[in-house]
Amino acid sequence: MSGDATRILVLNCGSSSVKYRLYAGRDAVAGGTVERIGESGGGPVNHEMALREVLAGLDLTGLTAVGHRVVHGGTLFAAPVLVDDTVVAAIQDLIPLAPLHNPANLAGIEVARQLLPDVPQVAVFDTAFHRTIPEAGATYAIDLAVAERFGIRRYGFHGTSHAYVSRRTAVLLDRPYEEINTISLHLGNGASACAVAGGLSVATSMGMSPLEGLVMGTRSGDLDPTIIFHLRREGGFAVDDIDDLLNYRSGLVGMTGDNDMRAVLRRRAEGEPAASLAFDVYSRRIKGYVGAYYALLGRVDAITFTAGIGEKSPEIRAASLAGLERLGIAVDPQRNAGRGDRVISPPEAEVAVCVVATDEELEIVEETVAVLEHRQLPAGTTQPVPEPERPKALS
Ligand code: ADP
Repeated sequence: MSGDATRILVLNCGSSSVKYRLYAGRDAVAGGTVERIGESGGGPVNHEMALREVLAGLDLTGLTAVGHRVVHGGTLFAAPVLVDDTVVAAIQDLIPLAPLHNPANLAGIEVARQLLPDVPQVAVFDTAFHRTIPEAGATYAIDLAVAERFGIRRYGFHGTSHAYVSRRTAVLLDRPYEEINTISLHLGNGASACAVAGGLSVATSMGMSPLEGLVMGTRSGDLDPTIIFHLRREGGFAVDDIDDLLNYRSGLVGMTGDNDMRAVLRRRAEGEPAASLAFDVYSRRIKGYVGAYYALLGRVDAITFTAGIGEKSPEIRAASLAGLERLGIAVDPQRNAGRGDRVISPPEAEVAVCVVATDEELEIVEETVAVLEHRQLPAGTTQPVPEPERPKALS
């Protein structure tokens, strides 16, 4: 199968939306979003109707495969897979770990299988890239029997983005992917950091769920778990209210009322203290992870910013890495102000700081084609590696 001849439909089914993009080879030839699924006021009543609408509007002649984004692959999936009944049942079993996402992803798979019965369906998991994280990085320090019983461990998310971005970083630096160590910073509405050693994820900031780690648009990221007990005991909050507070009313929106970084930057520039504080909390958290992952990796070749904020905010990039010159990390103001995929550190800097536009859909296309061809993408792209190949210092 030649990569250029493939026609792949990428589906990303969320709880109330379906995002789709049709690719001929590596070119997106059609795409869009159906929103407000199941909501009153005119949207499609369910995912089946939404997908019927999407498929009816596309020229699917010669469709090679459908690549589905699936948020949670648990410990079962370390790579993308061809969907069959067993895979569907496994994704179903993982619903308790991703109650908002996996049911919608599954609905997309089931409807696509029904409507396109002769087309191979491939599931690409957000968690799969992180299956190479050593046990010491995936284990929470709690009673191990309790953890085992309830599936409590670090799974990590944004794997397709971190895989794509770290590979692109190697291309940008013209170095073999297997030889470089990268810290990848995905800063969108959701945000996560990932340490990638020789193409393998060895640490990531999102944990059992996408709530842990960096400050996000509406999520708190790291906090002391006692805050939850305190809100329950002293504040009388219900567990669901705390869940809602930390997932939807925290982070930038919690600190400023705005979940959009552009608004926060504007208000900071106008001298508003809450916006200024939110900016500082946000960038300080990133800096902390950069330091931690520097220590874990031992040697860092590149730090790469990606997603909406990472790609477009020179202020956040500069503030997050300010004062790290002793670690060989610096940002050149002129390069930082430029555009496109590029290196933004000074030429003599020991660590290359990069900006790379992420493309999770294209990564899903490449992984889907790789599954159909029974081929592995370059080292570590969601493929598990045999134990001895793991970086020794990190296991
Ligand atoms: P998602 O995670 O939903 O895919 P994106 O990757 O598009 O989100 O990132 C959304 C974030 O990017 C928002 O906080 C938005 O304010 C921010 N953003 C977009 N453009 C800019 C910009 N020019 N400067 C700073 N932040 C930006």
